[in-house]
Amino acid sequence: MTTAVFPLGDLGAVQDHLAAADPDRTLVPCGISAVLLGRDRIGRVADAVAGLLDDRPATDGRRPTVLLLVDATPIQRLGDDLKTAVRTSLEQRFDVRTEVLTDEHPVLHADEAALDTASRAAQGVDAIVSVGGGTVTDIGKVASVNAGGVPHAAVQTAASVDGFTDDVSVVLRAGVKRTIASRWPDVVIADVETISEAPARMNRAGFGEITSMFTAPADWRLGALLQVDPTFHPAPTQLLDAVGADIDEWAPGVAVADPAAVERLTWALAVRGIATGVSGTTAVLSGVEHLVSHMLDLHHGEHGLPMGLHGAQVGAAAVIAAAAWELLFDRMAQGAPAVRIPDSDVARARVESAFGHLGSQVTAECWSDYSRKLATWAAHRPAVEAAVADWGRVEPELRRLLRPSADIAAQLRAAGAAALLADLDPSVDPALAHWAVANCALMRNRSTVVDLLVALGWWGADDAAEVLVRADRAATGARPGVR
Ligand SMILES: [Zn+2]
Repeated sequence: MTTAVFPLGDLGAVQDHLAAADPDRTLVPCGISAVLLGRDRIGRVADAVAGLLDDRPATDGRRPTVLLLVDATPIQRLGDDLKTAVRTSLEQRFDVRTEVLTDEHPVLHADEAALDTASRAAQGVDAIVSVGGGTVTDIGKVASVNAGGVPHAAVQTAASVDGFTDDVSVVLRAGVKRTIASRWPDVVIADVETISEAPARMNRAGFGEITSMFTAPADWRLGALLQVDPTFHPAPTQLLDAVGADIDEWAPGVAVADPAAVERLTWALAVRGIATGVSGTTAVLSGVEHLVSHMLDLHHGEHGLPMGLHGAQVGAAAVIAAAAWELLFDRMAQGAPAVRIPDSDVARARVESAFGHLGSQVTAECWSDYSRKLATWAAHRPAVEAAVADWGRVEPELRRLLRPSADIAAQLRAAGAAALLADLDPSVDPALAHWAVANCALMRNRSTVVDLLVALGWWGADDAAEVLVRADRAATGARPGVR
């Protein structure tokens, strides 16, 4: 395991590590040319855009046109309006076209209408500058693709998610959140003054998102050990080890928006995004904790309720994911039962009972994903059985990629983030929590520890309830500030 440390904002060091750890070049190349992280970075936006346009032929002496993509939320930076400041500095060198994205929701969603509007506005421009959070950035990436790969500089205004530095976008399709392929931003501008002034709940949610690095890589590795997911590569997990190593030191600073801690958080999120992008799959950082978060989104979305912040949900669900691993380890220590992959009829009945109340479209979509996953597991049943039989060798490999549920909960509390689903906004009641956790394996074609628990006959309603009790104990036993 590497002990590499990447200096803040040093994309070159990250690229060097990836090159050394992936001599066969099996990973996706990182398409970002710079992450401008630090103080006073807003003054560099126009220079960064000019740098991206350098190798473009000048057309008739006209000034290049830049699309400024924003939402309607006012953002302050040291007492000034950030978007006006960016626009003013761009106007000194470029013709600037501004598109303010709005929709009928209180906060902007990356739905079909928003993606269409942005993509239309991007036609014929020389560069896109998006200024905003994860949603505006994700829309900017899609607009860049739809305008033929026009250069995109993303100005990040919060450390809320890790999607600023990857090549996918989270979009809303027919009301359901989906991750689609899009494009790396060419430059990411992460100005510490701006990000430190973001609403506290945004950056605390970003900290929640971070904690999936202590659970999801084990799900990803498990998929490889059971031969149900061939995508595992050690290099991205080594990046995560490096940026997660000293998280206990800076977590308390996130709770009070200390700029130095916010800078560490921003960098850790940036490296996470790169780890996902180069892996060519979100599986590296998206396991049980993300499935539980998606289940909550599904529930809230289908009932017309406001959705919670993604990262905040992921954080509380990471405690549950770690507790599921602990349940598995404790039970395996007593001996493993025979592997039983659910047959199609039983599985279909489970999906219908879990999602039937949300309508036939949701049920059909979940069954389509889950049935493909079951077919993969059935085809690789001998490998699953071999791993279970050789558990003494398998478990240490997985444990190396995990942190205890109590440690994750303590980090979340230290950073001022929710460690319990009940502490989220909107709050999740015990019945919804149980539904989301008990059925999380049924919604996506993503293999996790819960699928192994299912195959071992250890994922009935009582088992999910036991995991929730373990997670509650981990979260309430954790005291703020304890390292
Ligand atoms: Zn996430």
